[in-house]
Amino acid sequence: MIRRSLCLFSALLAVSACVGPPDRAPGKNKQKLSRPATKDARQCLSDLDKMKARYAFLAEQDFGNGCSQTASVQLYDVGIPVTNVKAVKCDVARALGEWTKDTLQPAARKAFGARVVKIESMGGYSCRNVIGRPQAAGNRSEHATGNAIDIGGFLLSNGRRVTIVAGWNGMNDEREFLRTIRGGACKRFQTVLSPDYNAAHYNHLHFDLGRGPYCR
Ligand SMILES: [Zn+2]
Repeated sequence: MIRRSLCLFSALLAVSACVGPPDRAPGKNKQKLSRPATKDARQCLSDLDKMKARYAFLAEQDFGNGCSQTASVQLYDVGIPVTNVKAVKCDVARALGEWTKDTLQPAARKAFGARVVKIESMGGYSCRNVIGRPQAAGNRSEHATGNAIDIGGFLLSNGRRVTIVAGWNGMNDEREFLRTIRGGACKRFQTVLSPDYNAAHYNHLHFDLGRGPYCR
């Protein structure tokens, strides 16, 4: 009996050894791939797999001037497609996926009786300063390390499109929906900025995992 269990166990081991992670970079979007350097990064990728995210793990790169790409992915999907993300830290991708499930979809069901079928991002990694700040140390945006993502709008299963720029002060259902999803994001991210924060954010929600908590 013991021997049989052992055999079964080794058979399972052999099977699991054969199943490697699939190449998640579709076609021409293929990036240079490398292995995640830390246990945390490997855990994060495993969490992305569990939420059926599609992504390509990106090679670590230091671009200088406070701009770098570590433990980052090119993100295509967090269960639903996310457009326009070149690179973002895996932790940000994971938080976005969790927020999509816990906050975004329930809020869309409640407000519109529909599902969100696409998240329209306005980008993750970007080697730049906080908007409006001069070129100086300490003014680098969380985007400069891919630790942030900007969200501009959503496509719903009924064909309706909801954007921050039109909806924040738009129809009642959109206003309520957008404030609800901002509130949920504040539980997942360190800093969440909306049009309520300043004029630079009139058309997007900014989520990051840098310093915080700050929610406005
Ligand atoms: Zn931003």
